Amino acid sequence: MTRPDASRFGQRLFQEGRALVLQGHVRLTTLVWDADEVLWDWLMVGSELARGLGRLVRTRDLGHREYLRIRPGILELILGMQDASRTLGLDPWMRLWTDGYPWRLWRIADELPILAHLLGPGPPGWPDTPESFALHPRIFTRTDYAAAVVPMADPALRAERLALLPAPVARVIGNSLRTRPEDSSLKIPELARWAGKDGFEEALVLIDDNLRNTSRFVRAGRRAVHVRTEAPRLLGRVPNTVWRDPRTALARLSAGHALAIADALRRHGDRDPGHHLSVAHPEPVTLYPHTDLELDVPDARIRAQWVDPRARVRAAFAASAGSADPAGRGSPSGRLPRDWWGLRSR
Ligand SMILES: [Mg+2]
Repeated sequence: MTRPDASRFGQRLFQEGRALVLQGHVRLTTLVWDADEVLWDWLMVGSELARGLGRLVRTRDLGHREYLRIRPGILELILGMQDASRTLGLDPWMRLWTDGYPWRLWRIADELPILAHLLGPGPPGWPDTPESFALHPRIFTRTDYAAAVVPMADPALRAERLALLPAPVARVIGNSLRTRPEDSSLKIPELARWAGKDGFEEALVLIDDNLRNTSRFVRAGRRAVHVRTEAPRLLGRVPNTVWRDPRTALARLSAGHALAIADALRRHGDRDPGHHLSVAHPEPVTLYPHTDLELDVPDARIRAQWVDPRARVRAAFAASAGSADPAGRGSPSGRLPRDWWGLRSR
């Protein structure tokens, strides 16, 4: 971990975090932090994947190695916010929302204890077991998405739940479930409640590198900071992958986004709801003690927590696709639906 006094840059971000809470009235309970490309950059190596290709074909083994670099200053920024929240007697815990999976967060926190420290107290086993990351009330992952939306494949329950929400929120969730229910990158705080997690009740600002995510968050009546970033694609297609030498590529990516995020959060203070800020900070940060990690991800974990949840959602919605939409919100496309054979009368 990089201590707040370990570099001038880290120290500066720590103070920025304190000022956001003390003078800017930003509250950690209202911020929702994405993980990949916000808290850290990560890459796979094409030449290593190619060596494992035979294994993948023979045994369908999805295991692989990931190389991570923590974004400079980002954890110091949140630590400063935590420190000032304690000064004011406020809830001092960060909220983390990722389309990733609990095992991976546990594995990262195992090497980076500050992550669990920032998230605050958790369920039994916290932070030593992957299961405790799955159950933590201030962490939302792909497995939570599946838990929230699989029951909503039932059109009656879906209509009932959506009817209780503010119209813009119901519209965003309803549209997504109707057109692409398996899209687990949908980040809307009401989903957390349905997954049994109460850490996102005051969520107001999403900080995320995915423009689709931030746009939907804003359409649902909240605010967002879109972090512009350029993770490399191998041959322009394979995401988060370089052929070799991940450390050089990560060093190029590792720019001063934390400063830009702090600035955006300060400016959000006097904006109307529904505001969307886009931030970029391409200059690399020098004289900073970077934190680099390597993760060997086992096949069983990716299948259980990344492949299967999405498959469960897809299967549940496919099974109910023949049901009529009791809310009458089906889109009039003017085309014969692909599942017309299974349509039932009401
Ligand atoms: Mg991301």
